[in-house]
Amino acid sequence: MRRPATRLLHVLLSVPVVIALVIAASPNAHAQDAPVPMVVVIDPGHGGAVNPAQPDMPFDPGAIAPSNGLEEKDATLAVSLRLRALLEQDDINAILTRSTDIPLSVQQRSDTANNNTASVFVSVHFNSFTDGGPNGSLVLYPKDSDLAFAKTMSDAMFTYLGPLGVANDGVTLRDNWWIHTQMPTVTVEPAFLSNAREAALIATPGFQQLLAMSIRAGIERYDPQLLQRKAAIVAWNTAHPDRPVTAPSTVIPRTTAPAASGWLGTVVRDALILCLLVVVVRRPLASWRAVRAIAAALPMTLDRVLIHRAARRRRRRALAMRADAARAQRFARPHHVYDELY
Ligand SMILES: [Zn+2]
Repeated sequence: MRRPATRLLHVLLSVPVVIALVIAASPNAHAQDAPVPMVVVIDPGHGGAVNPAQPDMPFDPGAIAPSNGLEEKDATLAVSLRLRALLEQDDINAILTRSTDIPLSVQQRSDTANNNTASVFVSVHFNSFTDGGPNGSLVLYPKDSDLAFAKTMSDAMFTYLGPLGVANDGVTLRDNWWIHTQMPTVTVEPAFLSNAREAALIATPGFQQLLAMSIRAGIERYDPQLLQRKAAIVAWNTAHPDRPVTAPSTVIPRTTAPAASGWLGTVVRDALILCLLVVVVRRPLASWRAVRAIAAALPMTLDRVLIHRAARRRRRRALAMRADAARAQRFARPHHVYDELY
């Protein structure tokens, strides 16, 4: 009969070895060289509907076309959803600030771009004027450093929209907008909802698709890395059909700690595996006991993990409710957050 202290030592020694084995066996262990899809954040302007049950909730339709009643928030979302699908076809992780009809503050939209370290940020709007005369496509940029992006976007959009008779209104500095995004940023205003002809165009799925294509062209022309990364992903997927990289699912959530990488991680992992082999070969009986001890301890550990997780969930829910209340208060104003854009 072995002494309890020796047995405990064996158990303790086995824990890192078992962890190393799990890491080595996981499908991501060798995926460190896989290309990671680049992130583009698209911001469908405005959002939120009137809810009689919640009269304090903010709503922001944006401009409303006098000729056909089309609301800007719906048109921006429709184009952005199409744009996301197009970007995903190019293995880009396209993140929308909203994919449903909800209100968002400027801060929340900027945070989505910054927190996801987007390579570029595009806010989608439509223009409007007090009379139906003005028309055409305009690109706004917040900083001098964004001028090149704005010009590339404006040219790309005109390539698609020009043949449909949408004039090119060029680019305009709007330095009170999106000043806190940390990547190249533009706001596109591809046509006027106040212009009856353009409002009729904006309402059609064909024109919405064309707009999405024109914005994708602007993004990809400005940042050639996006298509270079696509080529790298296609090459990787051809070489590793068992472990393909797909755009939306491969993105690491912000809260996840990065896995051990580089040569040090490999050396540590291999050393641990070697230790395990030595232990198993030299002390087969002790190893078997250690495995049994760990297996016996697992249910207890799982219980604890589950209890902690439930408590964390409750805490998170309380925090979210508090944040919602604060947001509702902030938005409870008669005008919407995009008033300045008109
Ligand atoms: Zn707008």
